[in-house]
Amino acid sequence: MTRSLILRTLFLSVAILAASSALPAAGQAQQADGRIGAGGQIKAGQKAKNVILFLADAGGVPVINAASLLGYGEPLRLNVQKWPHLGLSETSPVDAFVSDSANGMSAIVTGVKTHNGVISQGPDGVRGKKDGTPAKTVLEYAEEHGLLTGVITTQSIADATPAATYSHSNDRGKWGEIFPQAFSPRFGDGVDVMFGAGRQKIGEQMATAGTSFDQLSRTHGRPIYGALADVPASAKRPIVVSDTMDVRAATFKALDILQKGPKGYLLVVEWDAHTDDPREGLQNVVDFDKLIAEVEKRVDLNDTLLVFTADHSFGLQVDGGRRGEDVLAGYDAWKTAPKDKEGGIVRLKNVMVNDTHTGEEVPALAIGAGAERVRGYFPNTHLFDVMMQAWGWKADAASAK
Ligand SMILES: [Zn+2]
Repeated sequence: MTRSLILRTLFLSVAILAASSALPAAGQAQQADGRIGAGGQIKAGQKAKNVILFLADAGGVPVINAASLLGYGEPLRLNVQKWPHLGLSETSPVDAFVSDSANGMSAIVTGVKTHNGVISQGPDGVRGKKDGTPAKTVLEYAEEHGLLTGVITTQSIADATPAATYSHSNDRGKWGEIFPQAFSPRFGDGVDVMFGAGRQKIGEQMATAGTSFDQLSRTHGRPIYGALADVPASAKRPIVVSDTMDVRAATFKALDILQKGPKGYLLVVEWDAHTDDPREGLQNVVDFDKLIAEVEKRVDLNDTLLVFTADHSFGLQVDGGRRGEDVLAGYDAWKTAPKDKEGGIVRLKNVMVNDTHTGEEVPALAIGAGAERVRGYFPNTHLFDVMMQAWGWKADAASAK
């Protein structure tokens, strides 16, 4: 060992010691035995009453890393990066290496991998051609068990990620048949709280399919509001389909309702994290992370499981830059420059974006009741088991893998 190597090793050991001794002080950091430092003690195997699944769409490891650098100028500053339980979740569909949101989210919420483009149906489904066996979703299980359920997204409420929780379709593009399925649930009384965007396009597609927001509302006796602000304070099962959705306001409004459920609740919150526009995408992750920190303070982690993950990864990498420098240096020039085509490679000084989904595993982070099952490398279908086991539920034989 050279002198400098010895020094460096010494320094590293001290740094690691310092870091590990700092762990218990990190607020509610859950310790290796599953107990929580502050706010009660969670034993391994503690049952969850409530589950909240936070889905950063396209929020892979490199995006999480870059978001911390954008938001705080340093790595490891996001709230979710302080959570005690981490695994790497593999996202591929049954027949390819790289996932889309349809297969990615379907696998997480049903425990069954399928083909890209297919919404919560088994691999016997063929996109756009043939229905596969419906795969029962955690939301359907929650409804069956009498829990309250909610789905919130920055995107269209009929887009692949939210759709995978409450519908089954052989093609993610069929918004006109996907959205109405929320009103004809297979279990319980269906999704209780739905807040999302996509009003215009869902309306157009429903018109083609021979229905409308008004008709659905009248048939099922449930108003479909056009804005979050229109929801009356007394509403117990509100649906909002707007043009854009304020997910932070939506999440708190949903919790006001869901936390009143005596048997518990499932809440799924999606925030888009595609970084084809790197500043927009990374800022979304920073904002989502702040919301998650607020939610974490509001729930009791002794009876609530929080999971953060992505449906698939994305081709963004930090490959240069110095501390103190803007990680997105050169962004403004890129943003204002004329572009001949959408997509392709974006080359900023410190960041390269290959505008496509990628195949590497995504982070799955967890805290709270049942969080200890999130560890190691696993297929994304394991996250379905994590949620079911947190509640102490068994999947039906038909959904078993
Ligand atoms: Zn996606």
